[in-house]
Amino acid sequence: MSHLWRIEIATFAYLVAALLFIWALKSMAHPRTAVRGNLLGVLGMGLAIATAILDEHVAGYVTIVAGLIVGSVVGAVLATRVQMTGMPQMVALLNGFGGLASVLVSGADLLNNEAAVRQGHWPIDVLIAVAASAIVGAVTFSGSLLAYGKLQEFAALKKPIRYPLQQPLNALLGLVVLGLSAWLVVAGGAGHFGTVIGLFAVIALASLLLGLTLVNPIGGADMPVVISLLNSYSGIAAGMTGFVIANNVLMIGGALVGASGIILTQIMCKAMNRSLTNVLFGVLDAGGSGPAASEVYAKVRSTTPEDVALLLDGVQRVVIVPGYGMAVAQAQHAVRELGKTLEDKGVSVEYAIHPVAGRMPGHMNVLLAEADVSYDKLKEMDAINPTMDTVDVAIVIGANDVVNPVAKTDPKSPIAGMPIIEVDRCRTVIVIKRSLSPGFAGIANPLFAADNTLLLFADGKEAVMEITKAIKAG
Ligand code: NDP
Repeated sequence: MSHLWRIEIATFAYLVAALLFIWALKSMAHPRTAVRGNLLGVLGMGLAIATAILDEHVAGYVTIVAGLIVGSVVGAVLATRVQMTGMPQMVALLNGFGGLASVLVSGADLLNNEAAVRQGHWPIDVLIAVAASAIVGAVTFSGSLLAYGKLQEFAALKKPIRYPLQQPLNALLGLVVLGLSAWLVVAGGAGHFGTVIGLFAVIALASLLLGLTLVNPIGGADMPVVISLLNSYSGIAAGMTGFVIANNVLMIGGALVGASGIILTQIMCKAMNRSLTNVLFGVLDAGGSGPAASEVYAKVRSTTPEDVALLLDGVQRVVIVPGYGMAVAQAQHAVRELGKTLEDKGVSVEYAIHPVAGRMPGHMNVLLAEADVSYDKLKEMDAINPTMDTVDVAIVIGANDVVNPVAKTDPKSPIAGMPIIEVDRCRTVIVIKRSLSPGFAGIANPLFAADNTLLLFADGKEAVMEITKAIKAG
């Protein structure tokens, strides 16, 4: 096959792969078509990988096949072992490794093109893309690893490390990295290969540090925003690398991830009532502030599944508020069964979904969809809050931060300003959780001690099954 033909076929295959990615994203916008979207994405990626492997520049297949086998085995084992609750951590790792791959591919391409760089033949725009890929890729890698540690709730990482002049030092480091990048471009234009390689390494190392110092102060309610932002960065880094190695599908795929990540970040910021600048540069603590738990929980009242069943007898409107604990307990099927049992008795049942409930965007939607809860019963926070006064019973299952009224009352709290699902305005609130342990933000929740709240201390799934059993028996 002629050289030109091979290029034409490869370009066409990359175009088809890119179209499949776009179709996949479109399909993933709705739970009903999300599975198909996933498959389309897999197909597009398969096509892109196959085309890249068949490229005539590939010098040998041994390393590629070895890499494919090792990567596929590690990926498959991780994907089958990871719990649903561990998905955000997995996403953080995948983002991070995407960033690292971008840095390595750009660096390798630089080394491969030594002769062209020495002759000053490497175009300026490619040199800019090399520097950008090193910066964004390295920031994504170290930032995502730190975000992983925070999400995994490693004690040493939950609280930010404090030091004087934190933000000015970050800004200074950012300026140094940009200055070094400008130097790299000038040195590349003048054909100083050694300087370019040295600067590339220093830029990547400084950006690794920048990733850590940028994510270090962020925590509490802002983590979801950071995860989606890092996701976007990993796409931008891949897109930049696409420019370096002149690969269309990498440019398009990277741009799609970058753009969709930015859009998601914006949606999350809006839902959290925060600006992106505020998230990135506002100094927030994850955990530990606010009044002592012993003080807040002085008069908590507990209940039993049987009493909850009695309470639910004859009510008209029930709202179920799921949170991270529902995911831990894998209680979604039991929750649907409870909802159905109540509906059979003529009760109106809705599910109030907070945008950052759980540990990843859409976490609760995914779980409830898996349990076949109809989409029209899922109500977004903004839609359900105005009607909370007319709710007879709110059943909070494994949610804590997203129903914590402190978000509205304490400006120093790590969740200050975050809109909450206002269950405190319902007639009665049942909170199902195992203990008085805090949620992700690490703060006490006065809702649990409110006059209209009863706590059912149990595992989410067992408690819900017991309540359903008691309703059916009664
Ligand atoms: P929280 O993390 O605030 O609280 C979860 C509660 O679930 C805990 O208080 C825990 O209490 C309870 N729980 C845990 N296991 C079980 C179980 N088996 N049965 C019953 N209860 C259980 O969850 P929310 O969903 O309310 O809030 C999400 C938090 O996570 C927010 O702070 C958000 O900012 C943050 N976050 C969200 C992300 C996202 O994208 N959605 C990403 C990263 C962070 P106990 O141990 O006593 O049972």
